[in-house]
Amino acid sequence: MSFRAGFVAIVGRPNAGKSTLVNTLVGRKVAIVSPRPQTTRNRIQGILNRDDAQIVLIDTPGIHKPANALSRQMMDELDQALDGIDILSLIVDASAEFGGGDRYSIEWVRRFAGPVFLLLNKVDRVKKPLLLPLIDRYQKLFEFAEIFAISALTGEGCLDLVNGWLARLPEAPPFFPPDQFTDQPERFLVAEMIREKAILATREEVPHAIAVLVDTFEETQDLIKIRATIYVEREGQKGILIGKGGQTMKKIGTLARKEIESVLGAHVFLELFVKVQANWRQNPALVRQLDWRRQLEQLGEMQQEETER
Ligand code: GDP
Ligand code: MG
Repeated sequence: MSFRAGFVAIVGRPNAGKSTLVNTLVGRKVAIVSPRPQTTRNRIQGILNRDDAQIVLIDTPGIHKPANALSRQMMDELDQALDGIDILSLIVDASAEFGGGDRYSIEWVRRFAGPVFLLLNKVDRVKKPLLLPLIDRYQKLFEFAEIFAISALTGEGCLDLVNGWLARLPEAPPFFPPDQFTDQPERFLVAEMIREKAILATREEVPHAIAVLVDTFEETQDLIKIRATIYVEREGQKGILIGKGGQTMKKIGTLARKEIESVLGAHVFLELFVKVQANWRQNPALVRQLDWRRQLEQLGEMQQEETER
């Protein structure tokens, strides 16, 4: 039996359903999903394993015009996501009105020389006759290699999509051991899960002013001890996060701990702190510090220093 393997990047506007699709295909939670745009701050890989194939999925920050240091970094990440991939997949919300942002996305995918798939997502919310004119509209703007109508939420059309990708992937051995579902270090997954709970718990009040850094991650025999700091931009946001008598914080902690426990399969002791760091999104140094790869590099440097001493 021949084996196929390759890299597929999922790009699209914020809220199109990129993370939902990666989670559905991988079947385990690797990317956080939020009803609010731009919660995927870093590039996340989910790995889809089958007996005959391995597809490495790259979830990306939403395509948008950069406005500050953070969004500039996100768009750089997007450019990097195109390195070494086999297929680019542009996912769009088929239930939303076509607009300027969609036009911008189509312009953006032109930079990729390989095959570009169009995924019309959220078809569970669209009356089928409305799909044809939409497909027509996209086809006039760009020559997509393939077009699929899917629902990332229900899984409708997703098997066809996977087979469509496979047909264009090279014969190759797997890139990762088949039991691996993400290449993200656990610390980063943990930070993402905490950030998701914090965003959900505070709703509209503390939008994207939240960043989470895992300060310590200690595995002992029967439990994992995690200390993490949630960074916000203003005192007011800190107050909202903490809530009356610490209630909101407690809720965030409990929800995050339960999810971390189920994903890591271990008992977890989670300690959360909140810190105000004004304008962290405008501060390239802090944004870089929050980047998980940077965190890993620093960890490596620290360990090296220790052995040198
Ligand atoms: P991303 O910003 O592109 O990663 O988008 P997310 O995956 O975070 O999804 C944004 C919102 O759209 C979430 O509330 C999802 O539950 C919702 N969503 C994603 N895919 C679908 C779908 O196929 N159908 C419906 N009805 N909602 C979806
Ligand atoms: Mg996302």
